[in-house]
Amino acid sequence: MSTFQNIKGTFDILPDPYTDDGDTRVAASAEWRFVEATVREVLERHNFDEIRTPVLEPTELVARGVGEATDIVQKEMFAFERSGTQYVLRPEVTAPVMRSFLQHHLDQRGGVQKLYYVGPCFRAEQPQKGRYRQFHQFGVEVIGTDDARADAETIASMMAIYEALGIPETRLRLNTLGTPERREEYVAALRDYLQTYEDELSDTSRRRLERNPLRVLDTKLEHEQNILQGAPQLIDFVGDDSLAHYDRVKGLLADLGVDYEEDPFLVRGLDYYTETTFELESAALGAQSALAGGGRYDRLAEVLGSDAPVPAVGFAAGMERLFLVLDAAGTERPRVPRPDVFIAALGEAAERWVFRTTQALRDAGLHVAHDLKGRSLKAQMKEANRQAAPYTLIIGDNELEAEAATVKEMASGEQTEVPFADLVEHLTAQVDAEGAA
Ligand code: AMP
Repeated sequence: MSTFQNIKGTFDILPDPYTDDGDTRVAASAEWRFVEATVREVLERHNFDEIRTPVLEPTELVARGVGEATDIVQKEMFAFERSGTQYVLRPEVTAPVMRSFLQHHLDQRGGVQKLYYVGPCFRAEQPQKGRYRQFHQFGVEVIGTDDARADAETIASMMAIYEALGIPETRLRLNTLGTPERREEYVAALRDYLQTYEDELSDTSRRRLERNPLRVLDTKLEHEQNILQGAPQLIDFVGDDSLAHYDRVKGLLADLGVDYEEDPFLVRGLDYYTETTFELESAALGAQSALAGGGRYDRLAEVLGSDAPVPAVGFAAGMERLFLVLDAAGTERPRVPRPDVFIAALGEAAERWVFRTTQALRDAGLHVAHDLKGRSLKAQMKEANRQAAPYTLIIGDNELEAEAATVKEMASGEQTEVPFADLVEHLTAQVDAEGAA
């Protein structure tokens, strides 16, 4: 009988790295911890507090919060019903964070809420390199201010993560969406323009033209990009207040030394997206080039039922794509944590002593490995090597009788006789000294 396989578009994170069916390297769990710790460290340094929301949310929250017209809601939700309640596995975290903000009146904590998250998201997309059905996002939401500094700080925090991880040559694209009202005027103008080229558009773009013309701007087809060269640009429709906000954001980014390129065709179609929008790309990613994206969403709270407007800005980034660029950049990886000490046992009495002593050493804070299988001494020493423990002990009847063990430092081969009574102290001192070196 064959055993089970993980669901297509998901993957296991194992103690060691491996290559999956899609020929993609899946990083080891220690690498995930390292990258997540870096994300947390950088964001906490930027004064963000962590928020954790459920993976399950009401379907209606996502339908409204992400937008009925989006691909996500139209075809990518993992949604189901149970006893009359509609559930969805969250496809993103912005709507859930805003739900939580409104539900718990987080504004009453005072000031601006700067929140970050790290966790899994789910979209029923066609799996391919850099595109999964269960993937992981980290991101921030700055809620409760329309100050341009919040936009610039959001972008700078995002850039600081990639910088901390040593990722070179990312490309930050920036645009302003203005207000939904002005954007409507633009959409009408864009539709008029594109309709004159309708015969030359692909089926996909023709469908988009009908439902959501802004999405035609995402085309990757060269002849359509050429048509777009002459299209009206959103920036020409944006109001003076929005332009002033955009100028402030650009000025602040310049103050912080953050490089960006303005891209008049970078847009998001949803009504609650407002003002600043941005996307971070890496050439190392190929087709799925987006590392992260974000912007202002000053109208989302109202879409979710808030009586008062709640201005907010944020970014969302993909972990899997971050690993792809880390691989391309050859960034140094943390190893699987190795034990400080491996203790081999020879004989039944020794096994019992080792079992007890292992626990005592662990209680003292050491990372200790031993055999749980009753293997030969040779096999145990092989295991000690595989686990790369810097110190090993071999305990047999002689050691039990002498109440002393020989501690072998594997790198130098140096051996030290240590009375059992001094073992915890001796090993702790050795490991501390090594850690300090
Ligand atoms: P989005 O919410 O679509 O703007 O996604 C934000 C980021 O999440 C993207 O820039 C990607 O890095 C990542 N991402 C989105 N969808 C997927 C997916 N299906 N698989 C892996 N990463 C994804």
